[in-house]
Amino acid sequence: MLRPEDLICPKPEGLYCPPGEFYIDPVRPVDRAVITHGHSDHARAGHGTVLATPETLDIMHERYGADFTGRRQALAYGETIGRNGVDVTLVPAGHVLGSAQVVVRWKGMTVVASGDYKRRRDPTCAAFEPVPCDVFITEATFGLPVFRHPDSAQEVGKLLHSVAQFPERAHLIGAYALGKAQRIITLLREAGYDRTIYVHGALDRLNRLYERHGVRLGPLAAATGGKKEDFAGEIIVAPPSSLNDRWARRFPDPVTAFASGWMRVRARARQRGVELPLIVSDHADWDELTQTVADLRPGELWITHGREEALARWAELNGIRARALALVGYEDEEDAADAALEAEPA
Ligand SMILES: [Zn+2]
Ligand SMILES: [Zn+2]
Repeated sequence: MLRPEDLICPKPEGLYCPPGEFYIDPVRPVDRAVITHGHSDHARAGHGTVLATPETLDIMHERYGADFTGRRQALAYGETIGRNGVDVTLVPAGHVLGSAQVVVRWKGMTVVASGDYKRRRDPTCAAFEPVPCDVFITEATFGLPVFRHPDSAQEVGKLLHSVAQFPERAHLIGAYALGKAQRIITLLREAGYDRTIYVHGALDRLNRLYERHGVRLGPLAAATGGKKEDFAGEIIVAPPSSLNDRWARRFPDPVTAFASGWMRVRARARQRGVELPLIVSDHADWDELTQTVADLRPGELWITHGREEALARWAELNGIRARALALVGYEDEEDAADAALEAEPA
């Protein structure tokens, strides 16, 4: 009798597949890694071989340099590769450009490791595809019923309203460099904002990478040079760590905005000196997590990291066996961005 643990089991390095001899998103260097997406807690440099989508390989190359791995193996969405009788397929996760769920099939059993994911529409990446499975491995970054992300267009509407209300001030938006920044820019374009958007230099390379992969960002310019007044009424997108540092002083009386699922917590926004919290997240909120589990009805639900208890309890109440893996080493980018804000002197 096969158990799911014979196919995928949690180890200190990450999720391991014994028959296929590979790890998924290992936090330490290993011989063979399958990487779900480019965020630094999942995609680390130094593995022997990295199997990932072409987009994720491109992101890793951009962030870590050409020698980020010994060997690259690109696997497009929907393609399958076999190793020792284990089939691996990458399926869109809807989290950031190139993000994939890892579908592992062996002897009639299917385990899906979702990586980070969300269900709502995101024009910068392919939408999450549900795959029926025996075990679904989920994150739970926002795994509490208090976390309900509002409609993203509505949040961007708040930003545009503020821009109209304060034409003499600059609007400085803190957004994580991989995924969030490009999503905010794209949402602004969808809302009809066609002016030049100014960007911090730290976002340039990933913005260009997104455009190479077909994501249209519209007119962008470096947020440097010019006089202070030139930025009155303009929108500037920057990594969260630059929001409270000297760099921000070049803009006229900036309205500080921060795009993160954590902005649901008002006290957190206040502590960080965020004047305009924008609740825009690349992670599933409580409704998306529970909806996904309800859609899939897997034989078992494994929860890697985040707020595991509430989701595990919800699954059990709905007749699905749940197990909290409490994997360490996955600090989500929205958490990290939030911490970066805190680290800066106010
Ligand atoms: Zn992520
Ligand atoms: Zn993550």
